[in-house]
Amino acid sequence: MALKEREESMRLAVKQQANVEDTGMKVNDEVHLAPKAVQGKVVETKKPGPPKKLFPSSALFRQWGEDLPEAEQKKAQDLFHRFGYNVYLSNRLPLNRSLPDTRDSRCLQKTYPPQLPSLSVILIFMDEALSIIQRAITSIINRTPPQLLKEIILVDDFSSNGELKARLDETIEVYSQLHPGLLKIIRHTERKGLAHARNTGWGAAAADVVAILDAHVEVNAGWAEPILARIQEDRTVIISPVFDNIHFDNFKLTKYPLAVDGFNWELWCRYDPVPESWIALDDVTAPVRSPSIMGILAADRLFLGEIGALDDGMLVYGGENVELSLRVWQCGGKIEVLPCSRVAHLERHHKPYASDLGAALKRNALRVAEVWMDEYRHMVYLAWNLPLQNSGIDYGDISSRRALREKLKCKTFDWYLKNVYPILKPIHDIVGYGRMRNSLDKGICLDQGPVPGNAPIMYTCHEFSPQNVYYRLSGELYVGPLVAEHQDAQRCLTDPGLREKPTLEACSKAAQSQLHIYWDFKQGGAVINRDTRRCLEVTRELLGARVLVLRACTAQVWEIQYTLGAWGRPGTL
Ligand code: UDP
Ligand code: MN
Repeated sequence: MALKEREESMRLAVKQQANVEDTGMKVNDEVHLAPKAVQGKVVETKKPGPPKKLFPSSALFRQWGEDLPEAEQKKAQDLFHRFGYNVYLSNRLPLNRSLPDTRDSRCLQKTYPPQLPSLSVILIFMDEALSIIQRAITSIINRTPPQLLKEIILVDDFSSNGELKARLDETIEVYSQLHPGLLKIIRHTERKGLAHARNTGWGAAAADVVAILDAHVEVNAGWAEPILARIQEDRTVIISPVFDNIHFDNFKLTKYPLAVDGFNWELWCRYDPVPESWIALDDVTAPVRSPSIMGILAADRLFLGEIGALDDGMLVYGGENVELSLRVWQCGGKIEVLPCSRVAHLERHHKPYASDLGAALKRNALRVAEVWMDEYRHMVYLAWNLPLQNSGIDYGDISSRRALREKLKCKTFDWYLKNVYPILKPIHDIVGYGRMRNSLDKGICLDQGPVPGNAPIMYTCHEFSPQNVYYRLSGELYVGPLVAEHQDAQRCLTDPGLREKPTLEACSKAAQSQLHIYWDFKQGGAVINRDTRRCLEVTRELLGARVLVLRACTAQVWEIQYTLGAWGRPGTL
């Protein structure tokens, strides 16, 4: 962008910032208690102590807002509660603030072809703060070569936040004076969820390449060129930039190390180490092959359409990133993380659109499992502790996604696991899973106990993963969330030999150290250690407490919630 234009855009940014008035407070309102000059003399105000902390347990004030007067604390807390990040501060930071350049210095030496594809940037949002969206737009305008930036498309997924109506329209007008036609907005008239919102943006885009981002991002210097150059080279690559973290409280940036995007069997995203083969290249600017994306992506616009864009049947949040990733890999594309393309992303403290995402994540995960995961689909049910039949979860109509899989002649999930994501470990000999109850008292369940710690306990039954139990034909009994990664941290129920209390140990380590981790168990029978022959039992203590012990068997029996395959009768107990 020409320097003059940049200056103008900065002026615009400042002007807009002065318009931001979410709380009835002006941006330049004085919030600090400084000595004031009155009639030429400096009046020493009595230095007050720090204001009382009105919200000592709020995450917002853990590392921020020390000196904020009480009335301001209330405003800030109210905004934090509504948005999940520090809108009070966002409204007071420049829209065109600078960010530390988090690229490796070798990225700066890279050169790119003079002719690159054009770019449509899509920002989707649902009840984000206006200043956050403005800062995203400003960063995109200031940090993307203007001749390549064709448009910025805003997709409002039916926000209820008032400032995203007329005030956002006015903002777009102001930008349009300087950048005619650059900004567009599409408003959903009902809530469609993020996958659908991303598709809406994609459908409206016209450039060669689309970058589909969250609205709470600030793109960093030089973010676009590596993406455009890589897609020009290979139109079948779906790209993830590297994310850095904007802290939800103080808006400082933390540089994240390079990693690839993966997921566990709940299909919840996680970072995995970069592959050895990439390290061997000894080029920190080289694209890194990645099993998945986190959500944000860039792609050749037409190629993304050819492989089916995103699955509109994904509701609210989650799963759509894994669905796209499996489809891309299994149907002839690839996914890469580009180390020189960096986007700062604000990780919210909580989401404005749902207090518990579990239900949406679970449902969407089953959708992925049923369409793409073949004989490995049971792993998703196991991780979510659901029965394979009659799970009671309606994952919607998947016929069109199955038809797409046929049409694209896609490879199997087995191929994907072996060739793309070998560190995700399937397990085929789990025969019992779910809650584990003792005949003495059906209201309490085997539980992994306090974390950190390795002492399993009996605890009032609940639906969360610390009470997941998995029994394998091998004799291993996992307690706690299913990890199932190679080099895993899965914990096995262990008889330590001497003492009365069982422990939980990393299964791989326990096997090597010849700890006693193998148990005999049949549905409705005793749990007996294969080496020590001691039984897992529950004592009846004074005051009704139940304590988990290992001792000579007294004919206590156990039941596990679901059974599978080769073992016992199928179905729920
Ligand atoms: N979003 C949306 N509709 C929804 C839920 C989310 O458009 O029903 C948007 C949201 O505003 C954000 C993007 O989807 O821009 C991704 O959601 P979020 O940032 O909450 O996910 P995270 O980045 O934390 O995984
Ligand atoms: Mn986000």
